[in-house]
Amino acid sequence: MRSYIVGGAVRDELLGLPVQDHDHVVVGATPEEMMAAGYTPVGKDFPVFLHPSTHEEYALARTERKTAPGYKGFVFHADENVTLEQDLVRRDLTINAMAKAEDGSIIDPFNGRRDLQQRIFRHVSDAFAEDPVRILRLARFAARFTDFRVAPETHALMRRMAEEGEVDALVPERVWQEISRGLMEARPSRMIEVLRDCGALARILPELAALWRMPASAPQAAAGARLLCMLDDAAQAGLDLPQRFAVLTYDLSAGAVSPQEDAAAALVDAVCKRIKVPTDCRDLARITAREHRHVARAGTLSAEDKVALFERCDAFRKPQRFIDMLQAAACIHGGAQAAFPQRDDLTSALEAARGVDAGAVARQLAERVKEIPGAVHRARVAAVEAVAAQRQR
Ligand code: ATP
Ligand code: MG
Repeated sequence: MRSYIVGGAVRDELLGLPVQDHDHVVVGATPEEMMAAGYTPVGKDFPVFLHPSTHEEYALARTERKTAPGYKGFVFHADENVTLEQDLVRRDLTINAMAKAEDGSIIDPFNGRRDLQQRIFRHVSDAFAEDPVRILRLARFAARFTDFRVAPETHALMRRMAEEGEVDALVPERVWQEISRGLMEARPSRMIEVLRDCGALARILPELAALWRMPASAPQAAAGARLLCMLDDAAQAGLDLPQRFAVLTYDLSAGAVSPQEDAAAALVDAVCKRIKVPTDCRDLARITAREHRHVARAGTLSAEDKVALFERCDAFRKPQRFIDMLQAAACIHGGAQAAFPQRDDLTSALEAARGVDAGAVARQLAERVKEIPGAVHRARVAAVEAVAAQRQR
């Protein structure tokens, strides 16, 4: 039996990048031989083993065949006669389809090294079209390897996949998994551009794709371009995933035919439900879409308005989420690293309002329970007024 390092580890090493995890492919072995050598089987659908001491993954070389549409329509085949090349040809991109032998030599049947040097994402074979996840992966890699471009033939193939509806077979979990990973890369805008340009965005996130379908004369015509800048700004400033997602979705209603009050938050909900976005990301995105304009005019808000804003955002129970929203709003209104006095203003107002001892107010009104919420609210408004007066001095 022979084993090879494959995939991302070979690519990253050739790029001179640190290698996170090593995937191995084993040729010429049976599962029984692997177990006899001390490997632990872990694969559910195909034979994958953990090395007895390094615990790295060793997969038996396998072929795959598409037998039915959708995500589950793959049949895998592994036996000791499957060659390394057969295993490599089923991979998505040429840069991900190289192997490194134990003697250090590189096996590169699809010219991955050339594409790496020329900075090109190119599909290995037309079997690329059998799995729409590959479009998402390519888009995510575009956000990471920012100077790579998509080969024209790969672009054409992805367009066809989007047109023919293959993209519609994506399961929500995989969409979110890849989108969220892409958002955490260096230039998330490139993921969105790749998805937009091949037509996949219109299938996966039509609400977002609509930002680029407005007539050039529309007042919101530049909304898409602006959004892409904000996303990269958010990445550069190191915003976390919920914040980056909030920036991605803050203005979905800009592309709507007749945006209504609260339309933005409703569109966020629709997207989150469809691609099963986790609650922390959904909740931050929702309050950002609904409140960012109020945050932007914090300087003109009364103490009453500010407390109402905190209440709508559940900021007394979840202050950190509110602070995170302020950072997303800063990114939307002027830049993640630019001065944003609204943030300091609202942060100190929230601190003051949180300083109110709601328990003490409640004890004083023990006989008149119904009056407690109103009294707490008024005490908070007074505290915010006091801090505002202090800041003016
Ligand atoms: P990362 O650095 O993000 O881990 P990676 O290329 O290592 O990137 P993995 O998801 O770890 O990606 O997958 C390892 C390898 O398996 C890939 O390099 C690629 O060869 C292959 N692969 C993974 N997913 C697919 C897919 N959907 N279609 C084809 N090949 C795939
Ligand atoms: Mg990997």
